[in-house]
Amino acid sequence: MATMSSVNPATGEVLARFDELSDAELERKLARADETFRAWRRRPFAERAAHMTRAAEVLERKKEHWGRIMTSEMGKTLKSAIAEAEKCASACRFYAENAERFLADEELKSSATRSFVRYLPLGPVLAVMPWNFPFWQVFRFAAPALMAGNVGLLKHASNVPQCALAIEEIFREAGFPEGCFQTLLVGSSRVGRILEDDRVKAATLTGSEAAGASVASICGRVIKKTVLELGGSDPFVVMPSANLESAVKVAVAARTINNGQSCIAAKRFIVHDAVYDRFEQAFVERMQALRVGDPMAADTDVGPLVSPSERDKLVAQVEAAVKAGARVLCGGKPLPGKGAYYPPTVLAGVTPASPSYREEIFGPVAMIFRVKDVDAAIAVANDIPFGLGSSVWTNDPEERQRFMNDVEAGATFVNAMVASDPRLPFGGVKRSGYGRELARDGIREFVNVKTVSVYEEAPAAPKAE
Ligand code: NAP
Repeated sequence: MATMSSVNPATGEVLARFDELSDAELERKLARADETFRAWRRRPFAERAAHMTRAAEVLERKKEHWGRIMTSEMGKTLKSAIAEAEKCASACRFYAENAERFLADEELKSSATRSFVRYLPLGPVLAVMPWNFPFWQVFRFAAPALMAGNVGLLKHASNVPQCALAIEEIFREAGFPEGCFQTLLVGSSRVGRILEDDRVKAATLTGSEAAGASVASICGRVIKKTVLELGGSDPFVVMPSANLESAVKVAVAARTINNGQSCIAAKRFIVHDAVYDRFEQAFVERMQALRVGDPMAADTDVGPLVSPSERDKLVAQVEAAVKAGARVLCGGKPLPGKGAYYPPTVLAGVTPASPSYREEIFGPVAMIFRVKDVDAAIAVANDIPFGLGSSVWTNDPEERQRFMNDVEAGATFVNAMVASDPRLPFGGVKRSGYGRELARDGIREFVNVKTVSVYEEAPAAPKAE
């Protein structure tokens, strides 16, 4: 029987080991999901909402407990882990309050007496999720999916089994029927069989391009809907009219959020020539001043990377960039000792010939570019395979319009860092994936958009005797 290990990346200590599900256990869970769906889809919104509100309460009441599980398993700072539990609660409340309105029948004009669209649930949906926001990624799928009347099956990343089991526990404690949300402790090699099972109706994956392509190709073969939320290398553009002090402050937070391991972290800083020197100096100073260390400590800004292997990947990317001509302005070498620590790092002069120029860098390493005008800024911003978020700093109305229209991304935030928010749709273009999570768009991804047309016939005339 294969096992999964929970390892603390701050210390290398093995915290727990779990057996993967046997085939028989997996079969029981799939059968339970199917059976639960048949009843759950008929439950009124008010009943679903009552459970979802209780899930929010469980998250909030024990946020420190959930936070410690996240931090010990994947290394994010405890304060950010607690904030993550709170954010999950806000998504649960948002969908408890709005799902019914988002999925209300929509009347449309046609030649029928009455036509409308009714949004009906699909069934069990498989969610393949990453470790980096181990609660948030799951809740932003589960809250709308369950409110729509679907049931959820979670295949979480293999390095966060304790988070995966904790989330199942939260839904159980909130009173959801057992089959509404189930964690499947299985490795990625067993995802294909689950997707091919007729009882599973759709899939969502948040993770790398390779994983997304694999899930989408299997689902393509068996004609099942997918949503993919993949990687990003978001631009952060600073123009001369911006408030430079705020831009620098936010740039540091945007690059180092989640120890630098966020899909929507700003990764490429594209700065106009007129303010470049001042930006670079202040940015490097602030990056260097961040406190790297124990993620449980209240004053830590940046904890460890998720694993020694992810740290080694980062080391190789930085080395490759330097070999191709980049200059290291701060950081640039892993920290000695136990734990997968890597310091905040700034690279300048990364050329398009360097592999790192177009790759996602999943750690606290910023690349900084000098550009001469808005056209050049947009050209560099778009010169990557990804299109997730973008942050642009300008107080010039024309420049704002240019960025909104021409930056190839699923989101453009002006004078702010990109952040997901239950009230706003979230997703990407290009190789960052397709489909949307959150807001009304998110809950409408996993529904049958059923067209109903009703023709009222004139009552038959009474027969003449
Ligand atoms: P990953 O290696 O792709 O893993 C993500 C999930 O996919 C895990 O559950 C993993 O399971 C599974 N998986 C991997 N290969 C698979 C395959 N061939 N078939 C089926 N499932 C497979 O990604 P990660 O390293 O955990 O996460 C980091 C990536 O996620 C980054 O690229 C980041 O940008 C992206 N991300 C995107 C978003 C977004 O919203 N767009 C949000 C967060 C993260 P195992 O762990 O068992 O291998």
